[in-house]
Amino acid sequence: MDQQELWQAILAQVQFQISQANFATWFRNTKISEIQDGRIVISVPNNFSKEWLENKYHKFLLKTLHKLSPEFKEIKYIVGSEKKQERKTQKSIIKTPQLNFQQFVAERETGLNPKYQFENFVVGSFNELAYAASWGVSEKPGLVYNPLFVYGGVGLGKTHLLQSIGNQVKKKFSHKKIKYLTSERFTSGMVLAIKNQNLEAFKTKLKGVDLLIIDDIQFLSGKEKTQEEFFHIFNILYEGNKQIVLSSDRPPKAISSLEERLRSRFEGGMIADISSPDLETRIAILKIKIKEKNISLSDKILEYIATHIKNNIRELEGALNQLSMSQRINKGSLGIEDAQNILKKVIIKNKKTVDPKKFIQIVAEFYDIKEKDILSPSRRQEIVKPRQIAMYLLRENLKCSYPFIGRKFRGKDHTTAIYAKQKIQEELKKNESLAEEINLIKQRVLS
Ligand code: ADP
Ligand code: MG
Repeated sequence: MDQQELWQAILAQVQFQISQANFATWFRNTKISEIQDGRIVISVPNNFSKEWLENKYHKFLLKTLHKLSPEFKEIKYIVGSEKKQERKTQKSIIKTPQLNFQQFVAERETGLNPKYQFENFVVGSFNELAYAASWGVSEKPGLVYNPLFVYGGVGLGKTHLLQSIGNQVKKKFSHKKIKYLTSERFTSGMVLAIKNQNLEAFKTKLKGVDLLIIDDIQFLSGKEKTQEEFFHIFNILYEGNKQIVLSSDRPPKAISSLEERLRSRFEGGMIADISSPDLETRIAILKIKIKEKNISLSDKILEYIATHIKNNIRELEGALNQLSMSQRINKGSLGIEDAQNILKKVIIKNKKTVDPKKFIQIVAEFYDIKEKDILSPSRRQEIVKPRQIAMYLLRENLKCSYPFIGRKFRGKDHTTAIYAKQKIQEELKKNESLAEEINLIKQRVLS
């Protein structure tokens, strides 16, 4: 990855988190001026920006940087450099569709990021259905599957797919109004509108689009007021044959605290899942990414990455970024041993043994209950089912003994654990959605 490309990638994240005005004010004319062992130096146009970035955005920038390239631990800001140089670097940026500053601002209106396209989305049996449905929607928005609901675990391509729909519709139907939002952004937009007393304007704007895409809809769970407003917007768009596309980390059935009427609306359209890619597809994805990022790595290294990182495409990309950085810093091409060394940490993390605690924690999180409740003797139905599932998973996946499982769940004896395991096993035979939930939980534990 090119230096400036790294900064572009960070800005791409920032722009969705703050207002347009703030973004333009604080991030215009910023760039990377230097990279040295674990540290990047950002040059900013004046002292005012410097202080602002240091005080207001530093933590967020650092976190984003760390996510993209874990070997970086530090960001420094300097007031810097003359315009001439800036133009030069601007020009030398990027081969793949990336944004310059003006485009950043322009894309804010739609929320679309042009780097996500169908053309650079690899299709395999794990995401075939979701891809086909998304493609169908982009060919005939509002007319085929409405709403389209895509679900799957973290880092498996939901955002990429949803964004591709938006970008494709934009290319094909230039007059159509498109809006992509995460559900957090939807919620915060609404809260802000209420505060500024222009909720109606906020809603009118959304009701006027031809394609509304809301990513990670599971975060609407428990937010009643937001759900209510969303329901109205949904209905108006739906009745006007406008396309709605949603994503979530789980199927509508499994989203807790979701109003029934919304759930049944979601279920009324097309539901498509994305699971984990197989080895071949992982290699294909790596090949596409190195082309985009203009990195050269041997097939052997790609195969090594793909064999060791299995459950999360974002992490595949993270590994590439890390290797590319190191290649750039050391100005030489990497051998397989170098790559193994550099990726040691990432790969150990992927291999990490999953302990019972982690399973219990994730089951609790999945069903939106407290960990201490799942461990308590409570007999409330909404607790009993997750507890049985956790017991089942400990037995099936970790081969824990029944007495051990009993002890983990304070005060239960081994017969309760045996009963739980049998109960879930029976239930699985007739309840497909339970099987789906358990799969999603397993995916999460592994990612
Ligand atoms: P999610 O929204 O499901 O958490 P993302 O869409 O953010 O996942 O995907 C994570 C990263 O993996 C992105 O950089 C995306 O481009 C890449 N990616 C995911 N699926 C594919 C795919 N099928 N082909 C190419 N890249 C993919
Ligand atoms: Mg996403």
